[in-house]
Amino acid sequence: MEEVSCDFCGKREYNAVTRQTDILHRTTDEVFTIVSCNGCGLHYLNPRPTRGEIGRYYAEQYSFHAAPSRFKLLAADILDAVANSPLHWLFCCVPYLNRKLGARVKPRIADPVLRHLAPGGQRRILDIGCGAGVSAHFWGYRGSLLYYRRIAAVCGVEVDDEARRVLGDSGIQAFRSIDDIPAAERFDVIRMNWSLEHVHAPSAYFGFIAAHLADGGKAVIAAPNYDGLLYRIAKDCVEVPIHLYHFRKQDILNYVDRFGLALVRFETFSYPEMFVAAADACAPLRGAFGAGLGVREARQMQRLLSKFDALGLGNDMIAILARKA
Ligand SMILES: [Zn+2]
Repeated sequence: MEEVSCDFCGKREYNAVTRQTDILHRTTDEVFTIVSCNGCGLHYLNPRPTRGEIGRYYAEQYSFHAAPSRFKLLAADILDAVANSPLHWLFCCVPYLNRKLGARVKPRIADPVLRHLAPGGQRRILDIGCGAGVSAHFWGYRGSLLYYRRIAAVCGVEVDDEARRVLGDSGIQAFRSIDDIPAAERFDVIRMNWSLEHVHAPSAYFGFIAAHLADGGKAVIAAPNYDGLLYRIAKDCVEVPIHLYHFRKQDILNYVDRFGLALVRFETFSYPEMFVAAADACAPLRGAFGAGLGVREARQMQRLLSKFDALGLGNDMIAILARKA
């Protein structure tokens, strides 16, 4: 474990915000503290596992490192499509399916990579923390490097050896670290999909983005939003110790400003299942959703959540960055 100063402003003074153990992956019973910097307000884990120690807190089957089967990906796509379409009511009288579909209700958010990848030319995408390159969290297979390579030249950065081997087998170049990427390389899109909160020094990544965006290029950063409704209800409903940082919009703005970048778009979003899962794990919400939500209940809740998302209170955020003009 190491005691650190603030990655953004360097201050050593902080206030403790909350304490929690690994309630999600159950890799340890150790209790960790999230602190808020007295200088800039950044929230971070302190003390924290060192770069050498953090690996042991990733569960053996950490989902973003593993490569799920094609069948599983297809089944997930079908369930997602049904849960979020008018067809959902056909299945809501079958309790098992009703609950399964309820868990898949989500807002419609266009894939920001596809939205911001300018048309034409030899476009290049770099995905930092790409896992095995077959599924991209919220956007599933259609947001993966394997899918993008039909329309662009793709490569990734991934610390997990097995995930890098899977990428290599698919013919996708994967670096172990951003430090291994040659200084002259430029990218049209650099994505960090729920990976910035895992790194030891976010400033190094903002510096990398500023140096490696091609002209007109965009960085896509998706991360949990510590200003989100869930974290306002329960500050300790966090994924520790593997999330080393708990960002808010202001923190992203601070980094963006320091590194000569501009925030060109910002949105937040939530979905019901995150609250359902939190009710299993976090004391303030315990029991709130019983055995889970059916698909119709979940869709009602989604409509309500979307109103909070528009106020910046979504549990996740997407920030699109460009170099300052
Ligand atoms: Zn600070």
